[in-house]
Amino acid sequence: MSKAPEAITPLKAELPKKLDLKLSEEQQKFLAKVIEISGQNVNLCFQCKKCSAGCPVLATGAMDITPTQVIHLIRLGQVEPVLNSHTVWVCASCETCTTRCPQGVDIAKVIDASRNYAKQLGKIAEDQINIFLDAFMKSIEKHGRLYEMGLAINIKMKTKEWMRDRKLGADMFMKGKLKVFPHNTKNAKEVREMLQKIKEMDSK
Ligand code: SF4
Ligand code: SF4
Repeated sequence: MSKAPEAITPLKAELPKKLDLKLSEEQQKFLAKVIEISGQNVNLCFQCKKCSAGCPVLATGAMDITPTQVIHLIRLGQVEPVLNSHTVWVCASCETCTTRCPQGVDIAKVIDASRNYAKQLGKIAEDQINIFLDAFMKSIEKHGRLYEMGLAINIKMKTKEWMRDRKLGADMFMKGKLKVFPHNTKNAKEVREMLQKIKEMDSK
């Protein structure tokens, strides 16, 4: 009997508790920029979730919000929740989501446009992105899931920016979101194989 697919990872990121549907100037700018860079009309999205259902990286548990939620937040101009999410940085640009969208939204391009916008804002430099991605993928490959404490230590060892984000780290620890010891998933081997396949697709 074939094994039932694992449930999609539940939402872990901190999302805004209250949304003011009247977009501020900054929110309108974010929405307009993403549309301009990606050339995609995100307003066509009707939240069917087909993009998320097919995303191989979401299935590994590496994303904290789903691709569907990224699109929704962009439509609402929610720049911080999008650019601070793991999702936009770990998206492998495999375009599976894009091929599944009944509305013809190229979600991979939209996510890529969000990353570009973060760079334009000076929120993150290319070398920081590479350090983050390298540490992130090592964590997923080793444990089959994200080990947040290991990720943070690995990044700090490389950047030497020991004091940066210390308040965020302390808050996460107090909320129990930074575990001292790693917890490996049972299917770490399958996750490794999946990541290998994504890397192979990426290099073609
Ligand atoms: S597949 Fe397309 S329409 Fe459906 S949620 Fe994703 S972006 Fe929106
Ligand atoms: S392009 Fe990114 S969001 Fe879309 S399916 Fe691939 S990894 Fe997921």
